[in-house]
Amino acid sequence: MLTVVSLLLVTMALSAVMLLVLFSLRDSGALGIREWCAGNALAVLSLPLFAARGIVPAFLTIEVANALLLGTAVMLMAGFRRHLGLEISWLRLGGFVALGLFLIVALHHGIDTLPGRVISMSLLHSALQLELAMLLREALKRSARRYPILFTMYAALANAAVQLVRALVYGVQLAGVVLPWNEVAVGMVFFAAGALALPGLTLGAVMMANADLIARAQHAANHDHLTGAHSRRAFFAVAERELARAQRRSSPLSLLLFDVDYFKRINDTHGHATGDQVLADIVERTGAVVRSIDTVARLGGEEFAVLLPDTAAETALLVAERLRRGLDRTPGEDDHIGVGYTVSIGAATLHPGESIDAMLSRADAALYAAKAGGRNAVVDARAVLAKIALPV
Ligand code: GH3
Ligand code: MG
Ligand code: MG
Repeated sequence: MLTVVSLLLVTMALSAVMLLVLFSLRDSGALGIREWCAGNALAVLSLPLFAARGIVPAFLTIEVANALLLGTAVMLMAGFRRHLGLEISWLRLGGFVALGLFLIVALHHGIDTLPGRVISMSLLHSALQLELAMLLREALKRSARRYPILFTMYAALANAAVQLVRALVYGVQLAGVVLPWNEVAVGMVFFAAGALALPGLTLGAVMMANADLIARAQHAANHDHLTGAHSRRAFFAVAERELARAQRRSSPLSLLLFDVDYFKRINDTHGHATGDQVLADIVERTGAVVRSIDTVARLGGEEFAVLLPDTAAETALLVAERLRRGLDRTPGEDDHIGVGYTVSIGAATLHPGESIDAMLSRADAALYAAKAGGRNAVVDARAVLAKIALPV
């Protein structure tokens, strides 16, 4: 038969397991792991003290156990705040535990009342869980990864509700109403619900840390570390998607391919670090020129591409010219790099039935022509093709 003691010990074991799971994520870079670990460690200490009622001195099983359990709730809250990038007020959280401890001592040594202690602790836990649920509801609005947050939010809400009902039931009992059900059974129900709450919240924390890890790994794979532009891999993935869309809707798709002029000279004269700054500057300025639906990618070294969905050749040339002017920097004019640079651009627009690779090589030929023609220029792939076609 399941007893309160065995439930407490099962929860303790679950907390210990969650502690091990969290510990495995310590190097993941996810924020909040340390606080979540501390919360579960406090639970592992606190739960056997509750279970040892009658065996160990009363102050251990009442004051210390409850303070540790409040510490658990507070540390979990701190972990979620840290994870969500919110400030942690240790003074406020510490004050919360101090208030709990004060109530426990007063309701033990002042007026010794078990229902009073249960009510006050349940209300405190409930308030904290409600605050956590509100916090997660706000975070839900900002996050693309909804499931882990939703899971944790409902775990916190369920816990808040259970604690509230618990306070209510004990309150009614305190008022002298005899309840028509078995007191021990009710106690068990609350313990069972409470037992699931802590590992449930920690499970949510682990899910959030994992989702964070996956998102960061995806971002790293799809973006260039130096400039923040899309990576070559991501560019081709987006380009294939846009190609399919353009074919489906018979909408135009254009591509600008550009390369920094005499970049080797910049590196040689000002150093590699300055060269790196130039590359980052280029991506920043390019982002300011193009629309949000356009994809800016670093295809390699100092070569970049901009994919322009729903853009016909004439508009693409206008964008290319705007980009060329935006990236025509004179030395000294720039505030933080202090190095001038220009770019050459090749522009191509998708032909019916053409592949991305074919469009890219036409843009490349146009870029080559822009370099050959003296650099700091835009060349239309159609003009290059016309020239190649002339002698035939
Ligand atoms: P052109 O006008 O014909 O394009 O001349 P260029 O000097 O720009 O062309 P080239 O291909 O000869 O030089 C490209 C240089 O870009 C050589 C390489 O060291 C440098 N480079 C490639 N990747 C990076 C990088 O990540 N950072 C820096 N600083 N330099 C890079
Ligand atoms: Mg170059
Ligand atoms: Mg180059």
